[in-house]
Amino acid sequence: MSTPAAKPDPRPDLRDLTPQQVQDLVVSLGEKPFRARQVLRWLYKGAAGDFEAMSDLAKGLRQRLHEVSRLTWLTPQAVGESGDGTRKLLYALDDGARIESVLIPEEDHHTLCVSSQVGCAQGCKFCKTATLGFRRNLRPAEIVGQVLTARTMVDEARPLTNLVFMGMGEPLDNLDNLLIALGHILGEHGLQMSQRKVTISTVGLADKLAALGRGTPAALAVSLNVPNDALRSRIMPVNRRFSLSTLKASLLAYPLKPTRRVTLEYVLLGGVNDRPEHARELIAWTRGLKCKVNLIPFNPHDGAAFTAPREEDVLAFQEILIAGNLTALLRRSRGREIGAACGQLAARAMAAEEEEGE
Ligand code: SAH
Repeated sequence: MSTPAAKPDPRPDLRDLTPQQVQDLVVSLGEKPFRARQVLRWLYKGAAGDFEAMSDLAKGLRQRLHEVSRLTWLTPQAVGESGDGTRKLLYALDDGARIESVLIPEEDHHTLCVSSQVGCAQGCKFCKTATLGFRRNLRPAEIVGQVLTARTMVDEARPLTNLVFMGMGEPLDNLDNLLIALGHILGEHGLQMSQRKVTISTVGLADKLAALGRGTPAALAVSLNVPNDALRSRIMPVNRRFSLSTLKASLLAYPLKPTRRVTLEYVLLGGVNDRPEHARELIAWTRGLKCKVNLIPFNPHDGAAFTAPREEDVLAFQEILIAGNLTALLRRSRGREIGAACGQLAARAMAAEEEEGE
């Protein structure tokens, strides 16, 4: 039923480029460098969907820009909304690939859960995105595009201030594009969001952490999930490449600012990694590491081989961590009934519903 993918457009997408590259392109059209600053303002703060929107640029320049470059604007194909106000935004990309972002309302702001890839290659056994396999990396324009579109969907009372790269994909498997997109999100030329409020979440690709730390001041979260090598290697294949001790060594070397800590995510899988001995292993593993722990009860999804933990086990686990001097917060996923909660993103269910409704 899907329409054939359009021929790839050879023109560069301006939001795939660094600010320097945008300037070079604008100068190559015979313009003064300051024109590039105007263009950049339209690309990010101005959220231009097309060149026509760049109203303070001469018509001729807009026309020439259009000839040599293009702009991607992501329009949600469907929006699912759950009772708690969480919205799941489904996008069809220009090659037909589908991704999702999740827009979560908080008391005085919104948080956006951003995707970094179509599918994922990491194969974590509890994650629904893993069942898709890996399709492709998102371009910088498709990453920052999720943020630009979400900004148009919130009001001033609750602006979009927080981003978590916990949607589809493994951000560090798409590091080059991620870093360009983060430049647009945090940088002077871009949205200027707060580096403390933008969090990159990774399965723990130890060999990429140093480059991430060099490339961006954004906050870091690591999906630890299992505190011993034997079990972690079974559930998270990445652990066969980078053991827990390798991961810890790379985290100890990570360039953290003095007041900041690494977040460790720990998905509690009923009866699997939620026993008191796992809590004690976790405490032992974190020794010497500036960190805090986010406990996430597993969100069941179709076909998952795991179940949610029992409430009393979750609370007991948290208590052991706190008694062991760890900061441990319980994170309840939002938007579960629309399949928007952690680990439920597969960009499928909503599309199927939509097609049925057509
Ligand atoms: N690849 C990155 C980001 C995507 S996963 C990473 O692994 O961090 C984002 C978070 O959701 C991870 O902490 C992951 O462990 C968690 N997660 C995945 N599936 C889940 C599920 N079914 N229930 C609860 N959390 C889940």
